[in-house]
Amino acid sequence: MKIVDGHCDALTKLYQNGKLEFNQDVLELDVSIPKLQQAGVKVQCFAIYLPESIPNPSFEHVLQMVDIFHRKIISHPQMKFIRTVSDWLDMEQKQEIGAILTLEGMDALAGNLTNLRILDYLGVRCAGLTWNYANWAADGVMEQRKGGFTKKGKLMLKEIETMGIIVDVSHLSVAGFWELVEVYQKPFIASHSNAYQLCPHPRNLSDDQIKAIIQCKGIMGITFVPYFLENLKVQVEISAILKHIDHICALGGESHIGFGSDFDGIEQWVKDLRHVGHYGNIIEALCKNYTESQVEAFLYGNWRNFMLRNLPQ
Ligand SMILES: [Zn+2]
Repeated sequence: MKIVDGHCDALTKLYQNGKLEFNQDVLELDVSIPKLQQAGVKVQCFAIYLPESIPNPSFEHVLQMVDIFHRKIISHPQMKFIRTVSDWLDMEQKQEIGAILTLEGMDALAGNLTNLRILDYLGVRCAGLTWNYANWAADGVMEQRKGGFTKKGKLMLKEIETMGIIVDVSHLSVAGFWELVEVYQKPFIASHSNAYQLCPHPRNLSDDQIKAIIQCKGIMGITFVPYFLENLKVQVEISAILKHIDHICALGGESHIGFGSDFDGIEQWVKDLRHVGHYGNIIEALCKNYTESQVEAFLYGNWRNFMLRNLPQ
């Protein structure tokens, strides 16, 4: 079965450690070519996430990560850079694994919309507005004051609507989320968030937020971060992922569920889900509870439908 994974931080690890190679099966990388092949992952999103260890993140750092994406990931003949609908359809005809470049948090754009346009030209196709804290555009979920968008952030939302970049609300504050729903006209995603109702972590989404994603015909990427799945559990199991899927289905979201693992961004893992090569264990669990066509949709079809509607032609 084919799989789309909507979020990983492998690019950050490749950026931080020049010795890592994406085509080698090493313990340090949860996502690598051998592991993607092991599971049958057909499309992987790669986030440009500037680690907190960079004291003054700038646009220069973002461009350095675009460079690493090309040199370390796309350069391998097994990989194909997906920027358009035709890239996607082309990739499906071949044995290639698609790679989508995404941005996690707009902090380093420093409020300069030219920088955002440059990322559009460079093929960035999804953009998270914030990480956990406030930036020039909006507040993140962990920001104490719990604000929404700044004036500049609202201008940015108008501008990004005209670009080939899909808005990602994972990490965005609750106030920001609802301001976005009010003004933003296009479908948006939460690339790696779960249901707050089942696991009350600020990074998760309330039922009303999930319904808003369903209503805009967006996608919610179920994530494998153990403490976004089940609170107060030492060892979280795959069954917890299924509970979140059941919950979103009950809200009417069956066609809006995808996965966004957050592999390489986590230091704790769900049991039997140590890396991207282990997707087979989720498939096995899903197949016991859902029909084959439902499982296919969660793993691939829902993300595919969304991308074919929202990527540039
Ligand atoms: Zn994240």
